[in-house]
Amino acid sequence: MMRRVCWSITFLFLTACSPEPVHETRFMMGTLVEFTVEGVPGSTAMKAIADAASEMTRIESKMTIYGQRDNPVKQFNRTPVRTDFTFDDELDSLLGKAVDIETSSEHAFHPALAALNRLWGFSLDPPPSTPPKKEVIRQLLPPASCLKRTGDHRWQRMTSSCQIDLGGIAKGYALERGMAQLIKHGIRHALINAGGDIAGIGNNKGKPWRIGIRHPRNPNALLGWIYLNDHECVVTSGDYERFFLHGGKRYHHILDPQTGYPATRAISATVIADKATLADGWSTALFVMGIRGLERLQQQGMAALVVKPDGTLVMNKAMQKRFHSIGQP
Ligand code: ADP
Ligand code: MG
Repeated sequence: MMRRVCWSITFLFLTACSPEPVHETRFMMGTLVEFTVEGVPGSTAMKAIADAASEMTRIESKMTIYGQRDNPVKQFNRTPVRTDFTFDDELDSLLGKAVDIETSSEHAFHPALAALNRLWGFSLDPPPSTPPKKEVIRQLLPPASCLKRTGDHRWQRMTSSCQIDLGGIAKGYALERGMAQLIKHGIRHALINAGGDIAGIGNNKGKPWRIGIRHPRNPNALLGWIYLNDHECVVTSGDYERFFLHGGKRYHHILDPQTGYPATRAISATVIADKATLADGWSTALFVMGIRGLERLQQQGMAALVVKPDGTLVMNKAMQKRFHSIGQP
C-alpha cells in the first residue's frame, strides 16, 4: 500500500515537473519565428511567449526603415547632415555595437545602407526583378564610417546617402530581448528560431539543442549540425533568403559596401556567439568578407564557417571543434 502511494506521488511529481514542450510560431520581422519552451506548464510557456513576441515586435517597429509608422531611425534619416540627433539608451547602445562591428570588419558591415537597400528593394512587396542603374547606386552608396557619435547619446550622419538601416543586426537584438523575456518568466530551457537566427538556453529534455546548418543551394538538405550550449546563438546569413535572378545572375539582399552591389565572396556564412546581436551583425559582416573574416572571428572567440561561391565549406578552428558533418554522430 505504502509503496503504491509512493509510486503515485512520484508519478504526479514527474508529470508536474516535465510537461510536454510547447511549440508556438508567429510571423514577425518579415519571417516565421518559432518558440520552443520546455519544463514549465503550458500556461506559463504561452504567457512568456506572448511577452517575448510583443517585445520583439516593439523592437521591430522601433527600428524598421519600412512601413508608414514613424520611428527614431526614420527621424534620424530625415535629420539634416552634420546635425545632432539624440537617441535613447537602447538605440544609442545598439548603434554603438553596429559601428564597432563596422570598424572591426574593415567596413564589410555598414549600418547606414538604408538608401541603398531601399533602392535595391529586396524587402519591398513585391520584390524587384531587375537591378537598379549603376549611376543611382553610386549616388546612394555612403562612405565608410559616415555615422559619428558627437556626444552623450548624440549622433550625426555625414552625407545625405548615410541613412541608418539596422536590418543586419536588429533581428539578433530582438532575439536576445525575446529570450530575456522567457528567462524573466522562469523558463530555463528554450529555443527561439527567427528564420535561421537561433538562440537557445538550457537543453532539450536533458540533451543539448541540436541545430542543423542549412545547405545554401538545397533547402531540404543540411551542411551539418552543431550542439548549442546554454545561452548561445547561431546565426546564418545566406544569398538564398531574398534574391532575384536577372540575366542568369543572382542578385541578393546583402550588399558589399565597397561596391553597392550584392556581395560575392560567400553564399552562406554562419557565426556562433553568446550574444545574438553579435552573432547577427557578424554573420552579415562575414558574408561580405568571405573566408578572410574567419580568422577575425576566431580572435574574437566566435566559431564561424563560410560557404564559398564554388560550394566549398571553410571553417575557423573554433567551428572545426564543434561542427558535425552529415553522417557523423
Ligand atoms: P537576414 O536579415 O536575412 O537574416 P542578415 O542578418 O544578413 O540577413 O541581414 C541582411 C539585411 O542587412 C539586409 O536586408 C539589409 O537590411 C542589411 N544589410 C545589407 N547589406 C549589409 C551590410 N553590408 N552591412 C550591414 N547591413 C547590411
Ligand atoms: Mg545579420
